[in-house]
Amino acid sequence: MPSIVVVGANWGDEGKGRIVDFLAADASASIRFQGGNNAGHTVVNDYGTFKLHQLPSGIFNPNCIAVLGPGMVISPEALSKEIAEVKATGVDVKLYISDRATLCLPLHALEDTLEEQRLGDAAYGSTRQGIAPAYGDRVMKKGILVGWLNQPEVLEQRIQFLLDWKMPQIKALYPNCDFTQSAAEMTQWLLDVTKVWRPFICNVTKPLKELQTQNANLLFEAQLGAGRDLVYGEYPWTTSSNVTAAYAGIGSGLPALRPERVIAVAKSFSSSVGTGTLVTAMEQQDNFREKANEYGAVTGRPRDMGYFDAVATRNGVELQAATEVALTKIDCLSGMKEIKICIAYAGEHTDNPIWPQTEALMPVYEDMQGWNEDITSCRTFDSLPQAAQDYVTRIEELIGVPISMVSVGPEREQMIIRR
Ligand code: GDP
Ligand code: MG
Repeated sequence: MPSIVVVGANWGDEGKGRIVDFLAADASASIRFQGGNNAGHTVVNDYGTFKLHQLPSGIFNPNCIAVLGPGMVISPEALSKEIAEVKATGVDVKLYISDRATLCLPLHALEDTLEEQRLGDAAYGSTRQGIAPAYGDRVMKKGILVGWLNQPEVLEQRIQFLLDWKMPQIKALYPNCDFTQSAAEMTQWLLDVTKVWRPFICNVTKPLKELQTQNANLLFEAQLGAGRDLVYGEYPWTTSSNVTAAYAGIGSGLPALRPERVIAVAKSFSSSVGTGTLVTAMEQQDNFREKANEYGAVTGRPRDMGYFDAVATRNGVELQAATEVALTKIDCLSGMKEIKICIAYAGEHTDNPIWPQTEALMPVYEDMQGWNEDITSCRTFDSLPQAAQDYVTRIEELIGVPISMVSVGPEREQMIIRR
């Protein structure tokens, strides 16, 4: 199947990184189409354990090119560090970085931090990497394009243009901010920190189109999940980009893409980090969080833990026209006395349950039978305990698409393929 889009069905951290790493064995290009250094995509394979932030998770296949698409915001110094870290483990990354992508500057990270501090209790729960201000500048037509790194005069002019507009606002809103760098200093810094990857800046459409004409497999990787999409998520507790599958082509340099497969990755239970509430939040979260190791990959923050939410997951599937679901972390449910699935919401707003401000929603649960067996070495669906099989097939009924992959541990081979 030539084009596979891997997206999150929920609120992110579903395990997209490990699914992409698995699928990359058969791919020729691994592409990130949005987001930036706020991503934390965990991959565990023979090279080690990685939390990838800006590099796509398919980099471990030496025959796969790594594309950072035009829909991304790129933190320049962090990218250089990430490339160095990955290369140090022996991975040969073949980079193609979009000239149309937007730079996420230290000034953006500073703005992000100052704004979260100003908001105090009303803060968004940002990773403070500068993602929202960088995308904001892009929309305001003040963004700094990656391609300008190869045109230093244009780069400095555009930074000056940005500073002339931004600094008066920053000084008014955050009087204690002592940012003083000039456009010339910022330009020089950018040229210094991007040395390792500047040679790979290009129009990424060209190599991708070439691969398309060869009928090669292309793998598109979203960051976060449907609940965090800028337009269709739980606004304003969303991210600042479009994370849903329809954006894969636009953010990758192939805007007319019609993917053959869209795999929505869903976790076997719910968790979410940052502000926002889980309808299915568990009363006792601590033990399960510990067992499932649910802490934010970028910030280390404890995630809110909840039961599987079939309403939200079905929404994540339908919004993205997912052809199938990859269900992750089912091993974490072994030994749980009480397993529930939220099959509907009760309360106000049930006619439009995914509307962002739905505080009055109550979960309607169905009780499922648990299992005690360690399932981390199961490699076929039939070898799972009957209760675990029933759990998967019941979810499948509720979300309306086949569950084609079930993962039973974080490592590459801890995977059950069902078709
Ligand atoms: P992503 O952002 O969607 O790529 O997901 P994260 O990497 O942020 O979070 C997923 C976490 O679950 C990581 O720590 C993975 O190593 C881990 N993980 C993924 N799949 C499984 C699984 O099937 N079982 C277990 N126990 N852990 C998993
Ligand atoms: Mg993550």
